[in-house]
Amino acid sequence: APLTTSQIREKFLQFFESKGHLRLPSHSTIAPDPTTLFTVAGMQPFKDQFMGAPAVFDGVANKRVTTAQKCVRVPDIENVGRTRRHLTLFEMMGNFSFGDYFKRDAILWAWDFLTGPEWMGMDPDKMYVTIYKDDDEAFGYWTQEVGLDASHIHRFDADENFWPANAPLEGPNGPCGPCSEIYYDRGSNYGDDTWADYAQTRESARFLEVWNLVFPQYDRQDPAEDGTPVLKDLPFKNIDTGMGLERVASVVQDVPDFYSNDVFRPIVDKVAELSGKPYEGEISVSHRVVAEHMRSVCMILADGTALSNTGRGYTLRKILRRASRHAYLLGMREPALYQIAPVVAAGMGDAYPELRTEQGRVEAAIRAEEERFLKTLEGGIQRLGSLLSGMPQGGTLSGEEAFVLYDTYGFPLDLTKEIAEEYGISVDEARYAESLENAQNIARAGSKYGKSELFGGNQEALEGLSATEFVGFDHLEAEGQVL
Ligand code: ATP
Ligand code: MG
Ligand code: MG
Ligand code: MG
Repeated sequence: APLTTSQIREKFLQFFESKGHLRLPSHSTIAPDPTTLFTVAGMQPFKDQFMGAPAVFDGVANKRVTTAQKCVRVPDIENVGRTRRHLTLFEMMGNFSFGDYFKRDAILWAWDFLTGPEWMGMDPDKMYVTIYKDDDEAFGYWTQEVGLDASHIHRFDADENFWPANAPLEGPNGPCGPCSEIYYDRGSNYGDDTWADYAQTRESARFLEVWNLVFPQYDRQDPAEDGTPVLKDLPFKNIDTGMGLERVASVVQDVPDFYSNDVFRPIVDKVAELSGKPYEGEISVSHRVVAEHMRSVCMILADGTALSNTGRGYTLRKILRRASRHAYLLGMREPALYQIAPVVAAGMGDAYPELRTEQGRVEAAIRAEEERFLKTLEGGIQRLGSLLSGMPQGGTLSGEEAFVLYDTYGFPLDLTKEIAEEYGISVDEARYAESLENAQNIARAGSKYGKSELFGGNQEALEGLSATEFVGFDHLEAEGQVL
């Protein structure tokens, strides 16, 4: 039988323990520093060590550390169910060196772990890598020591092969450096593009990025006045790697995507059971979205983030409401998603016991939110459906209408866009943004303008003005983009 996700996680940690690494537990999904709302990478809890702080953890000194880190990347939410390689919650397996080993070991060990028969046993001929444009040192290790053919290597600019992405130009200040990424060719069943094509397209269903080896050796400072990037050398050279556990599991288990692997299949099956709709056909995108989002929601709640109208809690609400909307599309009209929490806890509770200890609280929070949301959702979906079905393909939904759906019915813009897309209709986002800004200004000023002046007498929009429950959404989205 192929390795389970838990076995792969354990093998990774054991592999790096055998190379002298200290195993540390995952940090919470709540980010350890204020650059992001949620933890987005395995390196985030170790920024101080990269900057030169002593590598001592609970009294144990070790310049080599390995972790499985739960990461939440909300900006990837649009891809869930579409690219099938993006999750909002995923586990990033990492090995870190704080001024100890560097590039050569990081590259050779990653190769051994992925291709070693007693480890992941992936076919070496299906491995491809990218390197930063001028990183001849990495090129040398890959070709001379690993023995990879040069035709399996691409050199990319900072937008692909510098981490955080594009850091020399735009990224956040702090530790950063060039990187080398490892891809696995899933074969012609996934696409007929070639590795050469990938240099142009940088998007492929076939060549799956599984591991990013980052070489943090710079501390990015504020750019110079003329915009020139300022990269200060860190006190020493570091290693920071991130291997996508769920992606590797899909390859090792030889399943087409996450949703057929050992972690997601039981959750997808539960969605099918709760909805009475088998996991097949076009509607299956909703099974996937519900399964994926609920796994995130359970973990985020278990980590102590509560549903709210601002910050992390609002982002959490957005994820849960997207799941609710897809549950609705699956015909579910009563709160039921809370019943997924035990399935998530059963599957991941050994690695993350908080899913078990917090399960009661998690279920109660989900259920209460489902009840609230279903009430407004029903009204909004009916309203939008009748509007859209009366419009010609290629038409545009007015920004005011999108705003009403947002403000009165709790529809984030992306939901409205997604539903409109199904009818071949776009949304006037510019006007939507104006409507939102107007409402925010009014809410702030507490002004008593004649509302019809602003919204052309649209009665629902007028009523919506007082319900500014979702103000701040766009701002938070932007914040979520920060890496
Ligand atoms: P992609 O290009 O596919 O969006 P990335 O370059 O943004 O991935 P990194 O920041 O390099 O990802 O993160 C390291 C690894 O974590 C990736 O190589 C991948 O295996 C995994 N990973 C990143 N984002 C996701 C996600 N949304 N869902 C699942 N795994 C992910
Ligand atoms: Mg990405
Ligand atoms: Mg990438
Ligand atoms: Mg990457």
